[in-house]
Amino acid sequence: MNTYVVGHKNPDTDSFVSAIALAELFGYIPAAAGDPNKETKIVLSHFGFEIPTLIPAEEKQVILVDHNEPSQIHESVKVEEVIGIYDHHKLGGVSTKMPIRVRIEPVGATSTIVAKMYKEQGKNLNKELAGLLLAGIISDTNNLKSPTTTEEDVEFYNFLGEASGVDAKDLAEEMFAAKSDISDISTEELLESDYKVFDMNGKKVGIGVWETVLPEKVLERKEEIIAQLKKNKENQGLDLIFFAVVDILNNNSDLLMVDGDEEVVAQKAFSGRISGSVMELLGIVSRKKEIAPAIEKSV
Ligand code: MG
Ligand code: MG
Ligand code: MG
Repeated sequence: MNTYVVGHKNPDTDSFVSAIALAELFGYIPAAAGDPNKETKIVLSHFGFEIPTLIPAEEKQVILVDHNEPSQIHESVKVEEVIGIYDHHKLGGVSTKMPIRVRIEPVGATSTIVAKMYKEQGKNLNKELAGLLLAGIISDTNNLKSPTTTEEDVEFYNFLGEASGVDAKDLAEEMFAAKSDISDISTEELLESDYKVFDMNGKKVGIGVWETVLPEKVLERKEEIIAQLKKNKENQGLDLIFFAVVDILNNNSDLLMVDGDEEVVAQKAFSGRISGSVMELLGIVSRKKEIAPAIEKSV
């Protein structure tokens, strides 16, 4: 039976690269839970990796990376097939029949955990894999600027920079430019690309984020985005829906909202100014550490 390593739905760079590097470490097969975004595509081709194939529906064993909430697990993965979880998110209610290997650490990227595992096992990271994992840390920590960044992320960022021979600053610029080009991305895709649904005190709350160095390009589509949020809220039977446009250069966000209910919660959660269904969130960039916890306290 094959064993696959796979990240979450709407996969990001950290999900892809940690799956590839961990699969290599264990001798398993990396798999994808969706198409790579533009940033991930640039990273994979930069370091000479193919896009992993989609996780198959066949009988298999699975290791989850970069997620553990049931809502983020790909439909082709049955919980009974999961034999391990390597992640940096809060435990989100997955329950298994048998004991499995679980490693969750409060660091900025799953890539940091995987790099650490290579080190612990005395396994050599080649230049290409080191570059991949460096990209995972850059992506998840906004090049170490996100409040989710820990000392260990910095330590492995430096180590991987040396091991890959890559200038991390240049790589970050290349990745962020790719990520910020939305010319051929539909508004629907924009909202779904980095989107999570949370159960918050019995309420179903959807929070999407879009990280960019060109927030004005996204905000040009404000009306369309809000109309699409309205549709998604209805279609998905949500109590609340939010979409944060995260300015990763200046470390601010704009929170886009549908209607009254969201505004009431946002006003409780944050202290920003609201105008025309958009709230300014100064100094706030992280869904995991800032946006979702503040909303959860206020619903
Ligand atoms: Mg992720
Ligand atoms: Mg991650
Ligand atoms: Mg992220």
